Amino acid sequence: MLIDANGRAVDYLRVSVTERCNFRCLYCMPDKPLSWVPHSEILRYEEMILFIRAAIDCGVKKVRITGGEPTLRGDLDVFIKMIADYAPNIDLAMTTNGFLFSDLALKFKNAGLKRVNISLDSLKRDVAGKIANRDVLLQTLKGIEAAIAAGLQTKINVVPMKGINDGEICDILERCKSWKVSVRFIEYMDNSHANKRLRGMRSDEILAAIKARYEFEEIERDCKSPSRLFKLPCGYVFGLIEPHRDEFCASCNRVRLTAEGLLAPCLYFDEAKSIKAHVKRGDGLGAIGVLREILAAKREKNRFGEEASARAFYETGG
Ligand code: SAM
Ligand code: SF4
Repeated sequence: MLIDANGRAVDYLRVSVTERCNFRCLYCMPDKPLSWVPHSEILRYEEMILFIRAAIDCGVKKVRITGGEPTLRGDLDVFIKMIADYAPNIDLAMTTNGFLFSDLALKFKNAGLKRVNISLDSLKRDVAGKIANRDVLLQTLKGIEAAIAAGLQTKINVVPMKGINDGEICDILERCKSWKVSVRFIEYMDNSHANKRLRGMRSDEILAAIKARYEFEEIERDCKSPSRLFKLPCGYVFGLIEPHRDEFCASCNRVRLTAEGLLAPCLYFDEAKSIKAHVKRGDGLGAIGVLREILAAKREKNRFGEEASARAFYETGG
């Protein structure tokens, strides 16, 4: 069992397989040039899996593959299968922008992926294009439909931003309802890599926008998820992720592995330690020693507005 400095059990590992991306989202990496970490700096799948297996042996029950855009890394189905074969009962999930997913959904499902979160910030082609700095909507929608058709448990992630997609909250919710997939509205998290003029909607503003069209009630949250949950009279459930609330950190059960082999206890602070040397020499136990060290120093909560990590979310694995 893995316990952090504040007594929280840590059983959720997020693995960033690449910091690369085919989008340039306003809230993530709008100005990132095409200068990437060389392949030689990135952990090979065999090295990642050495650590993942050891972490599963220590009590990790959920692994989420993310990035950057994870589908840009080759042979991802092979990596999924390596994890699924080792721990078939683990909650194995991915977060993706969905752009390449229409050709990959079934392959990933057959390899052992169970769940996928796909980001969809607008149903308007021009707005989605403005957010991602690329004409993405039609391809993303195909990706979502392929995920559902493949039988993957699918959720949609939306980051509501003032003056950009704030008028679409109910339309996106309605579309997700028609797909029978849950939507999660994520409060925009300030970071130094985002577009400077962005203003995210706070959770009370998001809920007010939904209230204008729907009745809903808050229901008990899933203790394994950071999401607050709300139910419409028809039974449809949507979620709200509020990193600015204390409860968000109080229930944190996560740790992150970057593509370069850094273990980061929190998305919002610089602190991280490398397991690269350990996994390169096949020392899974040594890597777990590093994991225990960083958990022993994991801070109690993020400090939005006071202190922020210089490391971008796409590097840490958002
Ligand atoms: N490329 C994939 C994607 O976009 O889904 C996975 C990586 S992305 C960093 C993971 C999630 O973080 C996405 O749902 C994205 O919308 C969200 N995200 C990225 N930057 C954010 C920010 N500044 N505030 C809130 N959410 C953010
Ligand atoms: Fe790429 Fe995801 Fe960041 Fe958008 S949020 S730029 S899709 S990594």
